[in-house]
Amino acid sequence: LADLGSRLRTALGSVDSGSQDELQSIIKEICTALLESDVNIKLVAKLRDNIKAKLSKNINDDESLTNKKKKLQKIVYDELCSLVDSNEEPPKPKKLNHSSTTKRKNGKKIVSKESSHVIMFVGLQGAGKTTSCTKLAVYYKKRGYKIGLVCADTFRAGAFDQLKQNALKSSIPYYGSYLETDPVKIAYEGVSKFKQDKFDIIIVDTSGKHKQEQALFDEMIQIGNMIQPNQTIMVLDGSIGQAAELQAKAFKESANFGSIILTKMDGHVKGGGAISAVAATNTPIVFIGTGEHVGDLEIFKPTSFISKLLGIGDIQSLIEHVQGLNLQDDEGHKKTIENIKEGKFTLRDFQTQMNNFMKMGPLTNIASMIPGMSNIMSQVGEEETSSKIKNMIYIMDSMTSKELDSDGYIFTEQPERIVRVARGSGCSVVEVEMVLQQQRMMSTMAVNTKNMAGAGGLPGGPG
Ligand code: GDP
Ligand code: MG
Repeated sequence: LADLGSRLRTALGSVDSGSQDELQSIIKEICTALLESDVNIKLVAKLRDNIKAKLSKNINDDESLTNKKKKLQKIVYDELCSLVDSNEEPPKPKKLNHSSTTKRKNGKKIVSKESSHVIMFVGLQGAGKTTSCTKLAVYYKKRGYKIGLVCADTFRAGAFDQLKQNALKSSIPYYGSYLETDPVKIAYEGVSKFKQDKFDIIIVDTSGKHKQEQALFDEMIQIGNMIQPNQTIMVLDGSIGQAAELQAKAFKESANFGSIILTKMDGHVKGGGAISAVAATNTPIVFIGTGEHVGDLEIFKPTSFISKLLGIGDIQSLIEHVQGLNLQDDEGHKKTIENIKEGKFTLRDFQTQMNNFMKMGPLTNIASMIPGMSNIMSQVGEEETSSKIKNMIYIMDSMTSKELDSDGYIFTEQPERIVRVARGSGCSVVEVEMVLQQQRMMSTMAVNTKNMAGAGGLPGGPG
């Protein structure tokens, strides 16, 4: 979606006179960009009408250029958000009470009614089901859930081996069989076994192919009837363009899935087809797959997704991401979160974050949440980025406490400090300036996010 993003950003940035004609041609360019990314034509038409209506209602001719720009951006942002937002909430799995399986009430023993959260995966072969199963399992495992994987794909040779390898690599319990050919039976046995063992979540991977399409749908229905999933997730290949919509509709009829995982959103996918599929089936995207590795899974939030697309940056996701890292005991970390919420972001906060980033795995994911950072990332690979980030850490390690706790302007006032830090860290003056620039951007964002949250502006801001 990088192309779409850059076209949208260019269009939105090109407000020059703010005249009616100009605004109309910007809207036209936005719509063309969406269409060329495979977003359904009806959706684009609706979006265009909505934007036009809001513009004529909200923008006066005699308004300042800056105001016009801001309003246009906000209107486009809101409309894009509602395009990818189904307004449906996916179910949240609960953790079971592992310490006691029975409770006492009035002296009588009652068996706990708690039951595992069963998730069934559906989708065509090659969509990324098996890969996404493991990604999701690892995601929940990291958050303290007891989770197991069941392979109910008996159609594809090697399906069980693939799931088993993935599961072993990530130390996730798994269930499957080389001999049994009835997927319904395996699914049932696997789910029963994990339920007995009080697993919080059980993920069932299914086949995505049959000799006959109808046979595939029948099989899904049978498995569904047998295991009664709490949640059915359709895995949809984000790179298949317009075809995604038909595919999603067909699956929706047989397996009434309640959530979608969009895969292969890395690389140069257009993604619009998949977005249309979401709108057509009114189903929330819960995660997007952004690579072949087990960590390449991102929570999908309409507002974050669109913020990133438009290059606004995404402080809220950053906060949540960092909050999810079990760093609660880390004082520096707590302080940073407080600061961001207050609209502050010091160099020390930046240092804390950078140190945490190094612990956090795939940097690309995190970097995309920071404005300006995604540009650095897109130009170079993971390895080079990680050495860049290490340099940034060395630079901040060479700062004094006073400097770290400042908002960074101390360096503007006394530029000789920059030279000292460069020397101390073994980095160049330019690199030090880059760090300062980056921190200033974050700090501005923190302020903006706070102001907007307060003014009921952009949704998704902390407040
Ligand atoms: P299944 O047939 O639906 O189970 O699909 P698989 O999980 O076997 O995945 C098919 C191929 O897609 C494999 O080569 C995966 O590595 C690849 N794949 C899955 N998800 C992603 C993703 O998010 N990004 C990329 N680049 N590749 C993916
Ligand atoms: Mg598979």
